[in-house]
Amino acid sequence: MYDLLLKNGRVIDPAQGFNAIADVAVDGERIAIVAAGIDPAGARRVIDVKGRTVTPGLIDPHVHVYEGFTRLGIHPDLVGVQAGVTALADAGSCGPYTYHGFPVQVLPNIATDLFVFINIARVGLAVNPEIESERDIDLDAAIQVVSENRGVVKGVKARMVSPALNIMGMEMPRMALRVARETGTRAMFHIGHRVGNYSADFIRELLPLLTPGDIITHIYCDHVGGVLDPNRKLIPEARDALARGVFMDVGFGQTHFGFDAARRIIDQGVVAHSISSDITGVGRRTTVHSFVEMMTRFLALGFSLEEVVAMSTVNAARVLGIEATHGSLAAGRLADISVLDVRDGDWTVADTEGASMKTGKAVVPVLTVKGGAVISPEWGPRPWGWTPNPQPE
Ligand SMILES: [Zn+2]
Repeated sequence: MYDLLLKNGRVIDPAQGFNAIADVAVDGERIAIVAAGIDPAGARRVIDVKGRTVTPGLIDPHVHVYEGFTRLGIHPDLVGVQAGVTALADAGSCGPYTYHGFPVQVLPNIATDLFVFINIARVGLAVNPEIESERDIDLDAAIQVVSENRGVVKGVKARMVSPALNIMGMEMPRMALRVARETGTRAMFHIGHRVGNYSADFIRELLPLLTPGDIITHIYCDHVGGVLDPNRKLIPEARDALARGVFMDVGFGQTHFGFDAARRIIDQGVVAHSISSDITGVGRRTTVHSFVEMMTRFLALGFSLEEVVAMSTVNAARVLGIEATHGSLAAGRLADISVLDVRDGDWTVADTEGASMKTGKAVVPVLTVKGGAVISPEWGPRPWGWTPNPQPE
């Protein structure tokens, strides 16, 4: 007897190369089987998801959910299971001195899976800018917190911004890389800065230092320190890093995504592995709105639904190094499932630079299954719910 049966959905599981109308059966907290025509009499609870898209639980690998500990934080479940997303990674909200609120206060009280990249700065984004002098980094503490919390902490985050780069130069990112290397984890680098007054050459020095598994976030940002040179040509170091196995992540945020930059960078060969939201409390209200709206933006950019689902599941799991446990509907996996409505309409999605695109498809969360438990998404970030603006902005 199955505990839950999701019947008749379009099941897309890029991890297994699966894309077909099928049923998903759940046994306790695990996936039992994905197959067509499973007898509903053999399940305690049957949900008909005909016309819906069923995917592995969506994964957002760059968010800010240290609510109450940083001013920009938002509740993890609000942008997690209540938004169709089953796993998140907080990217640098805490530093080694402020990490411990996660295991003590946050993790025991949420339904969403949450991983952490600690900031190289000792108090993380409790203050901004987080690095105003070399004293704002405690390398030994960073190494200790990462090594003692390997289940939750997936690596270290550093922001390639002013004034840290003006004060410390490449010594700052080198310290982040040292934490990653000494702990066997990975380093995530924020690139680009709207108000940066530092040399754009830092990015060209940084990229050759990265090794497979390290992550660049804000890859489609349109500011100084991004991967486009002044002639809007891709810097060769970016293509080399991609070829070496460095992950490229989107990190939309409040100022980090231009459709024009994205188009140019994609056309020059750098397709992001994952399409993180970099969502914050204010970002949910003003720019990002939701992870599903990130999916809608990438449909607008011309990616297929299957490609967008791959970016949002198996690829995001690889970026976080959790692909052995997350990002697939394979039998025996934890039953983390997203049921989505890919709605037809006349939508407009915006970037953070004042440009917008039209699209005929919008992704809306319908149901979240987390470890076998069925959760209904909340209303959504807009007065009318989850879809983008119905009219051109
Ligand atoms: Zn961020």
